[in-house]
Order: sequence, then C-alpha cells, then structure tokens
Amino acid sequence: MRMVKSSQLYVRRAAASCSVCGAPAVVRISYARLDLCTLHFREFVERKIARILKKTGLSRARRVIVAVSGGKDSAAMLYALASMLKKDNVELIGVHINLGLGEYSEESMKKAHELCHRVGIPCIIVELEKVLGVTVPELAKRARRPTCSVCGLVKRYILNAVAVEADADYVATGHTADDIIAYTLKEFMFQNMDGVSKLAPSTSTVKGLAVGRVRPLYEVTERESLLYSLINGIPFHHSECPYRPRAPIEQRIKEFVNKLEEEHPGIKITYIRRLERNMGMYHSWGRESSYGRCKHCGLASSGVVCGFCRLTEKVTGKPLGEKVRAWIRGVLASLRAEESLMEVRGS
Ligand SMILES: [Zn+2]
Ligand SMILES: [Zn+2]
Repeated sequence: MRMVKSSQLYVRRAAASCSVCGAPAVVRISYARLDLCTLHFREFVERKIARILKKTGLSRARRVIVAVSGGKDSAAMLYALASMLKKDNVELIGVHINLGLGEYSEESMKKAHELCHRVGIPCIIVELEKVLGVTVPELAKRARRPTCSVCGLVKRYILNAVAVEADADYVATGHTADDIIAYTLKEFMFQNMDGVSKLAPSTSTVKGLAVGRVRPLYEVTERESLLYSLINGIPFHHSECPYRPRAPIEQRIKEFVNKLEEEHPGIKITYIRRLERNMGMYHSWGRESSYGRCKHCGLASSGVVCGFCRLTEKVTGKPLGEKVRAWIRGVLASLRAEESLMEVRGS
C-alpha cells in the first residue's frame, strides 16, 4: 500500500491511508514521514502538547489563565488543554481582550466567548474601551507609537494582571512553533540574546509581580494547529488583524522558513528542539532581568513605573494600572460568587 516511487506519488497521495491504522488519511506530515487519519493526527498533535505540559509542570498546576484571542492557534490550544487537563483537575480561566479594532475585535470576541462556553470554562472578557475608556488604536495614536507595540504591551499587562489577581500558576498563550522560530530568528538578527532567552516553553514566576508563561503549542506548527481546529470543529475567527503592518519582519521570516521546510522537511522541528535544549545558554548570555514593583500599580516593572502605567499616564493623564487591577478583582469576585451559587444549586 505504501508506495514510495516518485512517479507514483500522486497515486499514493490520492489513496493515502493512515500509517498507524490504515484508515483514509487526511494529512501528510512530511518531516515525520507519516500519513494520518483524523484520530491519529489528533493524537500526534496532543502528544507534542503533552511533552510541553509535562516539561513545564502545567499538568500539576492548580489554576491557569488561558489567553484566548479568538484565532485558530489559541483556539486549538484551549481545546487541547481543556480535554487533556480534565483528569488533572487544573482550573482553567479563559481571558479575552477586546482591543477595540472594530469589526475584527467584535468577531474575535464572539468566537472566544463561544469557544470558552463550548469547552465549559469561565471567560473573562476585558473590553478596553469600557475598562480604560480608550482603545488600542487611540492609545497608539495619542502616544505616537506603533499600534502593534502598544497592543503587545497592553495584552501582556492585562494577562499578567488577571493571573496575579487570580493567584494563577501560569498564563498559557497560543504561540506556535512557527511563531517561536520567527521571533527567535528576528532576535538573532538583532543579536538580542535576552529576547531569545524569554522564548522558552515556559518562563518563571516572580511571586505577586509576574506570573510565568507557558506555550503549549511550542512544537506544533501553524498548519497543524489550523488542521487540529478544523477537524475538531473548534470555533475560531479566520481573518487577519486590520492593523497588521504591511511588511512585518516576522511574516517574511515565516515565509522563508516555510520554503526551507518544503525543501528540507524536518528543519523546523530540529530547530525548535535544539533551541529548547540550548535555552540555558541563552539565559546566561542575556542580562539578568531584575524586576521591581511599579510605584503606581505594584506589578512587575524594570523601572520605577511600568510600561502600561507610563503609556496610560501619557495618554489619559492618569496611570491606569491600578484601575485595571481593581476591575479584574471585581470580575473575579462575581465569578466566584456565581460558582458557589452553582455549587449550592447543584448539591
Ligand atoms: Zn489512523
Ligand atoms: Zn504600573
């Protein structure tokens, strides 16, 4: 059944059967020389995720904040975590941030909400306009900074703030192998080893200041996360961010690496595994990052005032970190009240 002659490639592909069970295959994983059916493809992806969960200790966590953007990658991650961590009794809380990017944000918010509901976890939706009174494009415009950098800063701050307030062990994000490869290659180009050292499968927690990150899709490619979402019928938002720059370096690197992968199957997974193995070395090359406490909001900051409080003070005249934290505390309290009410009703 498994013919390998190149002249017969088309025939073999058309009638490919799963290398594990012989059922009709839906995907060819070139670098692993595997054709897989939906069931075994799902297993293939979840095995990669399981490796990261074990390595980072995520399966032993009490509570994890899951960043849900509404896109395919975070959707695949949440779906996988919800089904894989069920037996481990890890409490998952979804967080979606509505950045105020018009129709795109509205659609993303709907999908994020739908997905959390589907997998049965609470979803905290942070609508910037309602909480801060200002959207990401307005913040960027008034601060005269690129939209993407403001967006990144706001997302990192809010996810960390929710995790600190919820006393979570980790924040899980949907970065894929393709993201990690593109980000690290970019950092190599600018010789920013400190930046590389932050792109490990997980980062550590500094109690009360910053909650560690975990990237469960570290070894899963974008193509795999898309197919995983599709075969599991996971709701996600298809379109791209309207504020995406015209020539982002990361996007160009991804195109280049995809071309390389086509010609040299396996180059991505080799890179990502060796990167992970060498992380300790990049750590020692990077400068020792010492955190202080922001004098306004009390969260992690490399200076006296954190980036978020600095930005919001510049734009609105007031540092808004503490306001965000108070809002989150309120939401978490009502979430807990709702849960205990449900427990009473359920018992
Ligand atoms: Zn199979
Ligand atoms: Zn602050």
